[in-house]
Formats: sequence, structure tokens, C-alpha cells
Amino acid sequence: REVVTAMRGNIAELLSKAVNAGALDSDISFSEQNAVLNVLRNYGDLDSSNIFTNSTRSGLQEGSGGLTAGLPRAALNLDDFFFDTSVPYVPTFSESINQSATMLQPVGGMDKIAQALADEVSEESFYGIEITAIRRSGSGAVIEGMVDGTIGAAEVDYVIVAIPPSVLRNIPNDFSAATANAIAQVQYANPTKIAFQSPRFWESEDDIYGGISWTDPEILQIWYPSGGFGQEKGIIVGSYLFGGTNATNFQNLSIDERVEFALAGGEKVHPQYRQNLSAGISVAWAKVPYSLGGWSVSTPSSVLQLPDGPFLFAGDHLTYLQGWQEGAVISSLNALNNLLDLMGV
Ligand SMILES: Cc1cc2nc3c(=O)[nH]c(=O)nc-3n(C[C@H](O)[C@H](O)[C@H](O)COP(=O)(O)OP(=O)(O)OC[C@H]3O[C@@H](n4cnc5c(N)ncnc54)[C@H](O)[C@@H]3O)c2cc1C
Repeated sequence: REVVTAMRGNIAELLSKAVNAGALDSDISFSEQNAVLNVLRNYGDLDSSNIFTNSTRSGLQEGSGGLTAGLPRAALNLDDFFFDTSVPYVPTFSESINQSATMLQPVGGMDKIAQALADEVSEESFYGIEITAIRRSGSGAVIEGMVDGTIGAAEVDYVIVAIPPSVLRNIPNDFSAATANAIAQVQYANPTKIAFQSPRFWESEDDIYGGISWTDPEILQIWYPSGGFGQEKGIIVGSYLFGGTNATNFQNLSIDERVEFALAGGEKVHPQYRQNLSAGISVAWAKVPYSLGGWSVSTPSSVLQLPDGPFLFAGDHLTYLQGWQEGAVISSLNALNNLLDLMGV
């Protein structure tokens, strides 16, 4: 709140100076200038002289706003953040289309959504089988697989292939050259995370209830639990890197080194960190055997959105919602529509 308020206030003040200096005369007519200044005063919470001093939008001074009038905190200094590009995402992160404040979250974790969908599938499901080859057979296909060292195969009319391209390209297959090429082209982000168990000092001592602290790019974010407020302990995400060089550095560390790296970075934000955090656990998705990456960063392949003989494809990489379950669902509906077309239904 403090950064966003100060940033908006300063931008509005600078823009109002430009308007009053006549720098925007060719864009804004004289009769429109007052309307623009009114908007800027409201947008940046400027005073009547179009100057930003501070705003209660940043939060109130401790103890004020109850029996006494609410007093704004001192505004952040322009130089403290405005020209500091080392902490990215902060001002507009929650305004981007895929990162708005949480409205709903699945009880028990994200995979409850997939489990609930699976529960609704009436046909039999088989889990734990590693697919080892995907072959053509007549107008249909043969899927080869392995479970507990036992090899097997299934002959089918059609296959919806939902294995991510990062893994799929290494599985022997009879895809067309165009399909194989499209699968080979998909590039993946390499996100990393680390989480710890800890007494909830961020609630009891720092008044933080959920949300994210943005910090140095080497660990980037600290996520606080969005539920269980007031319980003795909680899970804190000590770093979440979306990919790139910092994520590569992090994933190349051993788990013990990642723990130390995250503690050293996080204690700059919370001095209580090291004495409270324990049981560090970390995932680097590029190293997870059946994922080999986090999410596609390539333009969705129009080739893979269409059937290749008996093979149809599904996965969030086929949509512009890469890295979101909604993308996986949209792609599966596309695959099912294509399947109905193939079957002439
Ligand atoms: C760090 C991170 C955070 C995310 N956060 C969110 C979020 O907050 N909200 C959200 O909506 N989405 C989120 N996502 C994205 C979400 O996880 C994906 O969109 C979704 O899982 C994609 O579904 P999918 O079916 O396309 O692929 P996957 O879920 O990857 O499913 C592919 C399946 O194929 C299996 N497989 C691979 N190889 C084989 C093989 N040889 N044989 C048999 N099976 C195989 C894998 O085990 C896996 O189960 C996140 C992803 C990551 C990496």
C-alpha cells in the first residue's frame, strides 16, 4: 500500500506540474486542463496545490483513527523506491489479469480441483503407469507403459496426450514430423520454491495476515499463509522464483544450500526468521522428472491444437493461460471437441 500510494501520488504530482507548465497543451485543451487536474488530485491524493505529501491510503499512524482522527503515515521517499528497479512487480502485480487478489481457493490445496474432476469421470482410471511409447497401429494407436517394472500395452482408437511437451519429446512416438517439431519447440520456465514450517511471528509480531512480501530478486517473494490465522504454526514460502537466472542459480544449489540461501535472504525482511523457521522443503520444477519445467513460455502451438491422426493433445501449453489450470481445462475441451469431430458425432 505504501509503495503504490507514494508512486501514484508522485506520478500525479509530476503530471500536474507538466499540465500547469503547459507541457501538454498540444494534448489537452485549456478547457480540459481543470478536469485533468481534478482527476490527478483524486488519483494521487494530492493537496489543493497539486502536491503529494502523504495519504491515509498508505495506512494510519499507530494509535490514530479511533478516539483521535486518522493520521497518515509519513510517505515513502521518492528515492527509496521510485528509481529502484531491483524489486520488480510490486506496484501492479495484483492488477494483472491473472494475479488479482484471491477470490476463492480450493480447500486442501490446488490438486483438489483435479481430484474432484477425476471423481466425476465414470470410466475406470489407472494411476501410477509410466507411458514409455506412443505408437500408431492401423487407424488407431498402441500405448505402451510400465508399472513396478511390469511392461504392458493398450490398443485404442484415439489418445488424448496430456503429458507436457518437456517430457513428451523424450518418449518414443509415431507423431507426424510437424507434431514432433511443434513438441520440440516448446520452451519452459524453470520456477523454484522453498517453504518452511514456523510459529506465526509474522502475524503476532508484524501484523501480516496473508499476502506477499517482495524483496531482493535472488529470493524475490515471501508468501504468508492465507488461512489458519492465529494458529500456533503455519507454512511460509521463503522464496518463489518464476524462472530465469536467479531460479537457475537457486535450482543448482543443494537443498541444504537453498535453505541457507532463503534464510539469509529472508532475515533481511524478518530478523526473527532464522530462530523460528524449520523443516525447509524445496522444489525446482525443471528437476521434477515428470514435469521437467514449470510452464510453457512459448506461443501456443496451433499444430498441437489439432489432431494428428489418432493423437489429440491437451495441456495448458496449448492455450494463452500457460501456468494456469484453467488453460489445461480449456485445452481438454478443445481436445474433446476435436475428438467428437473425428468420431463424426
Ligand atoms: C510453481 C507452479 C505454480 C502454479 N500455480 C498455479 C496456481 O496458483 N493456479 C493454477 O491454476 N495453476 C497453477 N500452476 C499451473 C498448473 O499446475 C498447471 O496449469 C496444470 O497442472 C497443467 O495441467 P496439465 O494437465 O496440462 O499438466 P500437468 O498437471 O503437468 O499434468 C501432466 C501429467 O502427466 C504426467 N506424466 C508426465 N510424464 C508421464 C509419463 N511418461 N507417463 C505417465 N504420466 C506422465 C505427470 O506426472 C502429470 O501428472 C502452477 C504451476 C507451477 C509449476
